[in-house]
Amino acid sequence: QYVLYGDKIVEREHASIDLEDRGYNFGDGIYEVVYIYGGKPFSMEEHFKRFADSAAKLEMKLPYTLETVNDLTVKLIEANKIHNGIVYIQMTRGASPRNHLYDRDSACLITGFARKMDPPVQAQENGIKTYLTEDIRWLRCDIKTLNLLGNTMAKRKAADHGCHEALQHREGTCTEGSSSNLFIIKKGTLYTHPATNLILNGITRQHILKIANEQGIDIAEEAFSTRDLIHADEVFLSSTTMEIAPVIAVTGDEEGEFPIGPVTRLLQKKLKEKIKKPTVL
Ligand code: PMP
Repeated sequence: QYVLYGDKIVEREHASIDLEDRGYNFGDGIYEVVYIYGGKPFSMEEHFKRFADSAAKLEMKLPYTLETVNDLTVKLIEANKIHNGIVYIQMTRGASPRNHLYDRDSACLITGFARKMDPPVQAQENGIKTYLTEDIRWLRCDIKTLNLLGNTMAKRKAADHGCHEALQHREGTCTEGSSSNLFIIKKGTLYTHPATNLILNGITRQHILKIANEQGIDIAEEAFSTRDLIHADEVFLSSTTMEIAPVIAVTGDEEGEFPIGPVTRLLQKKLKEKIKKPTVL
């Protein structure tokens, strides 16, 4: 396996991380996951734009241009001969003697790996069960940071209840999944939480909103309650690795079951078409 280490593609055993790398000590870093379909990364430009936005929000300086990051990522995909899979790119604030106070001029370290992975056809076709639980995360969920304990705890809880994904709510207002965005359809209108500090503005989410608009579907980027969720006509989740996964059941803080409806199926179909014929957002 070849990995990205700084500005080089090296064999995995030749990459080493300092014990005092801030990513390791503080989770002080950011990342992106891009899906590779048939050897081609999908929406890489949008992912790296968000990468740069996350860096800016954390006052981290990219060690090279986005174009270079892009080129290195393509090399990484090619070196590993990935046909279908993911590429993971992260940047930490680099190594320095452990201290909460960060330096705005730290030499940041970019690393990455690529892995084969087939699209989760089963989840896309048959839908998934979800577990509704309190959103215990911090107030900057808009930043794609390595700090993911709130998310990982929610995912663990969901799995412990036999569910594939967690749905999170803040005092009864639905936010998003542990690693996905949440949508509901009620009387033909597509609802999803607005892109505030309380959610990650998913690249897939943005594609879905654009497709829904093109299809003449009414869109409401409005916060909705857990009661609204339970009374929805259709529910689905979106992410880079899942694309669109219908939600067939919710347990946990509220309970409900949902059919896989026509709006979900239409959006799935249109998103797949877009993936085959990539267009810029
Ligand atoms: N929300 C969270 C918390 C996530 O981790 C992810 C996956 N990165 C998403 C939403 C979906 O984002 P995207 O469509 O860009 O993968």
